Parts: sequence; structure tokens; C-alpha cells
Amino acid sequence: MKTTNYMDSLIQSVKKFTESKDSPPLAHVHNFGCQLNFSDGEKIKGILMKLGYGFTETYDNADIIIFNTCAVRESAEEKAFGVIGSVKRYKEKKPDLIIGLCGCMAVQEHVVERVKKSFPFIDIVFGTSAIDELPKLLLDVFNGKKHVFDTSEYNKPLSEQMEVVRDSSFKASVPIMYGCNNFCTYCIVPYVRGRERSRNHEAIIAEIKGLVSDGYKEIMLLGQNVNSYGNDLANGISFSELLRRLNEIDGEFVIRFMSSHPKDASFELIDTIIQCEKVAKHLHLPVQSGSNEILKAMNRKYTIEKYLEIVDYARQQVPDFSFTTDVIVGFPNETEEQFNETLEILKRVKYDNIYSFIYSKRSGTRAALFEDNVNYEEKSRRMQTLLALQREISIEGYKRFIGRTMTVLVDDECKNAEGWIHGKSNEFIIVEFKGPKELVGQFVKVKIIGSKNWAVIGEIID
Ligand code: SF4
Repeated sequence: MKTTNYMDSLIQSVKKFTESKDSPPLAHVHNFGCQLNFSDGEKIKGILMKLGYGFTETYDNADIIIFNTCAVRESAEEKAFGVIGSVKRYKEKKPDLIIGLCGCMAVQEHVVERVKKSFPFIDIVFGTSAIDELPKLLLDVFNGKKHVFDTSEYNKPLSEQMEVVRDSSFKASVPIMYGCNNFCTYCIVPYVRGRERSRNHEAIIAEIKGLVSDGYKEIMLLGQNVNSYGNDLANGISFSELLRRLNEIDGEFVIRFMSSHPKDASFELIDTIIQCEKVAKHLHLPVQSGSNEILKAMNRKYTIEKYLEIVDYARQQVPDFSFTTDVIVGFPNETEEQFNETLEILKRVKYDNIYSFIYSKRSGTRAALFEDNVNYEEKSRRMQTLLALQREISIEGYKRFIGRTMTVLVDDECKNAEGWIHGKSNEFIIVEFKGPKELVGQFVKVKIIGSKNWAVIGEIID
């Protein structure tokens, strides 16, 4: 077990190199993929800051460029290699530029082989569990070692001592667990992020107390399956209990979380959402398909009937409880009938929004070995049908908010409407209204006066 003293002495050693520069060296961290990856990117920035680096948005004045990659889709991998290839010319102009590759791609053997063979200008490769090793890896590079790789071990917990450079001043992502035990047949995550490791709840609560006292207004709890939080800890608390304890923290803030696996979602979770005033009144519950046969082929471990029990329980108490979901269209051998069952679920649950994807084969997963008799044109047609139906459902569903007052955390100015700003309501609905940009990062009360298919429109009332 490494000690903090060991880390401190490493940091001091690296600083000798960074401080020998005329001005602080600059780092550029390029994140791909999901919110967990962006959260890892904030930790990488925290380490680099501690090592004496400043930050730059561009490649040309960077002294270190880190590509924090995503492996969920094969196309994402190709895209990342395309971007990484484009920085070779910067290295040719500035030979002491350090280029690093990390994230989910970095723990895949074929990626490591490809880097060695075709991307020799990459200096450092490290996996998702080796982020806290970055000072050591950099020290090796400064000491003249070529091609420093740390991709072996991906099941160890990350250090709790790491500083974080946050990209937003009012919204904070807080991972509460790492990895996944579920092995959905289409998904690479368990192979690249390892098994579930929950963080100690006291460390999470302390971090969030600090964020709230620093003025953060939205806390997003992250995990591949937050509903199984704590199951791997000897003296752990459940996810619902964690939400209840976070709800007791003083301050004006909203707690969101993602993602929930339906097999572990419980009535207790719904009760907690409804009873805790700081927990957003919204549940993102990825259904993926409306067909029990397809769910079985996906290894999702729940049936549509079980899924609907959760939805119905929430709606018995709050009739318009807000649900959103993920849907995969065109899973291998999905029949027209099975696809129609997915359409039926959309009509039954009346989601406020869906995130839908055409199934794409991911090498290394079990589903990649399945034969597939549905061609891409058919999958695209199904996708268009699904999107058209959801558009109708969203338009109709958003009308229920007209006349109500919503509490909205303001995100940003509207791009195409001068004088307008937008934010998210407690129910995770986009709300647009006229207002000054100075309100960004604050809660405002908005009376809803209209709706469209992706947002509602309102007027500030205080
Ligand atoms: S729950 Fe399934 S889809 Fe989600 S990360 Fe785990 S294996 Fe992937």
C-alpha cells in the first residue's frame, strides 16, 4: 500500500521538472464518452494542477496532451485514434510534448498493441484505475523512459486523496462507485472498468458537504448501477440510505443520479425520491427493450412486468412522476413484433425523454458473437418510427406542466434566441425563458406558459 508521503515525494520530484520551465507548463485534457469519463478527466486535471501545470484549450501551446478515451462503441475508438493521430505533427514540432492515452480504451489489449505498432509518439498509456499513478508515470517520462504503460490492474479503488479541477462552478459530478457486475451482453464496460467498487459513504458525504459549502447547486451522483451501491462493502449503507443522508446536508442544492439498473431499483428508492426534498423528482430507468425475449438475450435480469411494477408504484403516489430511459433498437434478431413491444412500453410509461441507439456490435462482448438477421436499413426505419412516437409522447406530456411553477437551475444562455436563458427543472425538463445571463448557476422560479417537443417555455416569477 502506497502512503501519502510516497505520493508527496513523487509530486515534488515531478515539480522539479515542471518548475524548471520559464512559465508554468500547460496541459490539455481531451475527454471522450460518458459523464464518468468526464469526471475522471477532472481528477486528471486535479493531479496535473498539483504537479504545477496550468491548462489550455488548444493543442498548439500544450506541454502535455491527455486523451481520456471511451470504448463503448467501436466507432468511438476509431474516432479517438483519428484525433490522436492528428496531434503527431505537434510532437514533431515540439519533441518534449508529452502525449498520453487513458480511459476505457487503454485497458484493452488490442488498443495497447495498436499504440505500440502505429502510434509510437504516445508516451504514456494508463487505465481507469491507474489515474492516481500519473505522477509516477510522468516521472518515468521525465527520466527518459520511453513508452510508459500502466494498464494491468483495473480493479483497485482510486485514492480518496485526489484533488479535482471541476469544469463547472455550480454543477458537480461525484462518482460513488466504479465498475459494473452486470455483463449486459452488448456492453464492454465490465471488461474495461472492472467489478463494482463502492466508495466509503463518509468520504462521499464529506466531499458533497464541501461542494455545497463551495456553492455547488447540482450534485450528480455517478455509477454504472447506483442502485447496487454499497453491496460490496462490509459496513456499507444502501443507495437509498445514502440519498437520505445527503438530503440532510444544509444548503440549497439538488441531488441527481445516474444510472439506475431496473433489476436493483426498489420501491424504497421511489419512496426516498418522493420523500427527500433535495432529491430530484425524476428517475432515469434504462428499459433497453420492451420484449422479455430481447431483455433475456441482453442479460438484463428483469422482465418488463417487474420494470412496470416500479413505474406503477411511483405513479400511484405521484401520477405524473417523470421517467426517462435508454432504448436499443435493432438488437441482433429483434423481430418486428419485439420492436412493437418496445413501442408499447413507450406508450405505456409515457417517458418525458428517451436516449435511443441503433445497436452496434462491440467486439469483446457476448452479443458480438450473435448472428444478426436484421439489416441496417430496417434498424434505421425502426429507429425513425421510435423517434416519431416519442416526439408525440413528449409534446403531449410536456403540456401537463403548463400553468405550474417550476424551480429551475439555470444552465446557460440560449444559443439562437438573444435575451433567453435555459435550465433544468427538478423533473429534468429543459425550461427556456427570458432572463439575464447573470442568473446562470442560480435557482429561479419559472411559471410555465407553453411547451414544444424538447422543452417547456416559461416566465420568471421572482
Ligand atoms: S449495467 Fe449493463 S449496460 Fe450498464 S454498464 Fe453494466 S453491463 Fe454495461
